[in-house]
Amino acid sequence: LNRSLAGMGTTIFAEMSALATATGSINLGQGFPDTDGPEAVREAAVRALREGLGNQYPPGPGVPELRTAIAEHQERFYGLTVDPGTEVLVTAGATEAIAAALLALLEPGDEVIAFEPFYDSYAACIAMAGAKRVPLTLRAPSFRPDLDELRALVTPRTRLLLVNTPHNPTGTVLTPEELAAIAELAVEHDLLVVTDEVYEHLVFTGAHHPLAALPGMRERTVAISSAGKTFSFTGWKVGWVTGAPELVAAVRTAKQYLTYVSAGPFQYAVAEALRLPDDYYAGFRADLHRKRDLLTAGLDAAGFRVFEPQGTYFVTTDITPLGEKDGIEFCRTLPERCGVVAIPNAVFYDDAEAGRAQVRFAFCKKDEVLREAVARLRRL
Ligand code: PMP
Ligand code: GLN
Repeated sequence: LNRSLAGMGTTIFAEMSALATATGSINLGQGFPDTDGPEAVREAAVRALREGLGNQYPPGPGVPELRTAIAEHQERFYGLTVDPGTEVLVTAGATEAIAAALLALLEPGDEVIAFEPFYDSYAACIAMAGAKRVPLTLRAPSFRPDLDELRALVTPRTRLLLVNTPHNPTGTVLTPEELAAIAELAVEHDLLVVTDEVYEHLVFTGAHHPLAALPGMRERTVAISSAGKTFSFTGWKVGWVTGAPELVAAVRTAKQYLTYVSAGPFQYAVAEALRLPDDYYAGFRADLHRKRDLLTAGLDAAGFRVFEPQGTYFVTTDITPLGEKDGIEFCRTLPERCGVVAIPNAVFYDDAEAGRAQVRFAFCKKDEVLREAVARLRRL
């Protein structure tokens, strides 16, 4: 194994989902919904397959129908005008978008500032690019970025800010003031910015604002999102990048040699999904909001310290009030103790000490599954 990937053998998601299957536990670990997305969107995928749409290599940047739908989505929700021809790239999920963006934009020795705890592929992709990650630690209980600390982390080697809002695993949604401060810093130091916005439609408190909409940001921002989260099709692996033509062209160059193109028929179906009426988006968000409240109340009653998320479908807790100290140990034994799987946040930190007692639960599950999980956790 390439030394830059040392210690990254198996992702925590694969390990914990395998444990859930092996023990027959309720899986509140890996973030995927237990109910598939809209029937009409599934039908659109079947139709595409039957009609021979995308069964052979689709165009490298993505099928025109989907690129147009992505551009319309940016206009409809954020008033951003995006050219589907030059400013959109379809990827194999947000995961490939992150990899291709970092491989395309970083050189060995460049420094990347990212919020810690971070989604695990960030560390791996920064390492594969030969760059150095510089964490800005989000600390309990607020998990807000300290903007003075952020300014102090910028050095002459800083090349890129990797911003995730709504943030996995803490549920932090950056405020307009925080975004403005980040944008100002990026402009001042002429930094590139990659934004991971996969939970853009899952905000319960406040609102999601794309950094690309702020002054001076359009030309330096690569924005990433995915159909997996918004439409509950995590297995389809359809994601995308939007940004200025030069940046998208750079990411496309890297993507060409990673996967060449992304799977065809699902692209047509996601184009239809993006055009669903506002009711779909509002209903999806309201449903997850209710599930958030159901799970957080249950975890609170079971004795966890709960940090209420403003967005995403994850809730971070602290297990100290249960007399526990080590989240990794807790998550490894939880399935046999009570038949529930969760994710230890420690694996998302460079500074494992900072997240040692934190455990993340996903609430994108049926109400009865959440209720049963809570009943089991209350017996701990
Ligand atoms: N970024 C974040 C913050 C995530 O939580 C996930 C999880 N799925 C991804 C990216 C990857 O998205 P995809 O499944 O579309 O590759
Ligand atoms: N994004 C999801 C999570 O954070 C799933 C990630 C994965 O399986 N790689 O749980």
